[in-house]
Amino acid sequence: MSIRDVYADNNATTMTAPEVLESMQPFFCSLYGNPSSMHNFGGQVKKHIDRAREQVAALIGAQPAEIMFTSCGTESDNAAIRGVLAAAPNKKHIITSRVEHPAVKNVFYYLSENDYRVTELSVDRQGRLDLDELREVLDDDTALVSLMWANNETGVVFPIEQAAEMTRAAGAVFHCDAVQAAGKLAIDLSRTPIDLLSISGHKLHASKGIGVLYVRKGTHFMPFMLGGHQEGGRRAGTENVPAIVGLGRACELAGDSISTENTTVKALRDQLESALLEQSIDASVNGDTVNRLPNTTNISFKYIEGESILILLSEVGIAASSGSACTSGSLEPSHVLRAMGVPFTRVHGSVRFSLSRYTTAEDVEYIVTNMIRIERRLREISPFGRDELPEVR
Ligand code: PLP
Repeated sequence: MSIRDVYADNNATTMTAPEVLESMQPFFCSLYGNPSSMHNFGGQVKKHIDRAREQVAALIGAQPAEIMFTSCGTESDNAAIRGVLAAAPNKKHIITSRVEHPAVKNVFYYLSENDYRVTELSVDRQGRLDLDELREVLDDDTALVSLMWANNETGVVFPIEQAAEMTRAAGAVFHCDAVQAAGKLAIDLSRTPIDLLSISGHKLHASKGIGVLYVRKGTHFMPFMLGGHQEGGRRAGTENVPAIVGLGRACELAGDSISTENTTVKALRDQLESALLEQSIDASVNGDTVNRLPNTTNISFKYIEGESILILLSEVGIAASSGSACTSGSLEPSHVLRAMGVPFTRVHGSVRFSLSRYTTAEDVEYIVTNMIRIERRLREISPFGRDELPEVR
């Protein structure tokens, strides 16, 4: 079999769509004015930023004035959480979940060390959130609830509309990290009481270096970046014009392809998952398979190392990701799978495949053939490969 390149790590980052790249091109050498300048070079550019703001707003059912451009999803999350708390200094309770991305998790950790009372909501074995727990912990002192729409590792989707409604009823502000959901799931903020929402360009086929923070009109919010008056005084700094224009185009394309994500991409993901479960010696899916992103599957191959799997997949041109310690760039195994109570023997053998609208049926077939071959090879050299051992927690 010939080696091909198969990219199945789209939750880490995506290819910039060719249409997006094309839309960005004029903003380097011809339309390079500073949008804040009074002259025509600037004025011409500003029109394109306004258009991009409309395109982003249209994808999520927002008003253009509620869209603030940032540099990435991490900045959006930081600006949202810190910006809300700075505007409500008298409230000291904040709520999040145990499975958030570090862009939220580490901000909450910092705040817990600095006078804030943090509640981390638990998830069940399928990675699902318990809304009753949220209802119980909301109190008069709660300033903010920050929950992700969809999990980056497992794809599990939280009941975000209900969580936002509960939060609003309790008089607190609701922030949602929608970095993985945007472009894959329909989002309509005109009907969902979310106050702030984060998006990252490079997760939806725009370039790196661009993010969005949606701030609902009327939300009390203190700017994080101080300086010039860009972004309506909410985020200072000269705009990353090519990336903003590209993001606008990417959002337009994402709006057109949400149905493809939920039909074609989902069918390919299901095909990949069922073939792996059927042909593997011992594999199981991590996370709720009902409420899940259409492009993601997180599979544990028991008793073999996710890291070794990834190295061997990479040797045959396949890019995927793992929840095991070393490959995720941290010393700890996935906090998401641990929070779900997945046993160590399965956490260490977990692999995430995340597809996109560019994934083909041939790609899926190539992954299955190679993954099964790699599994057998690793089991042959693993001391536990064929013998059943008791589950170690
Ligand atoms: N939130 C989630 C759920 C993510 O998956 C990521 C990136 O993986 C981020 C936030 C951070 O986004 P960025 O890489 O744009 O900073």
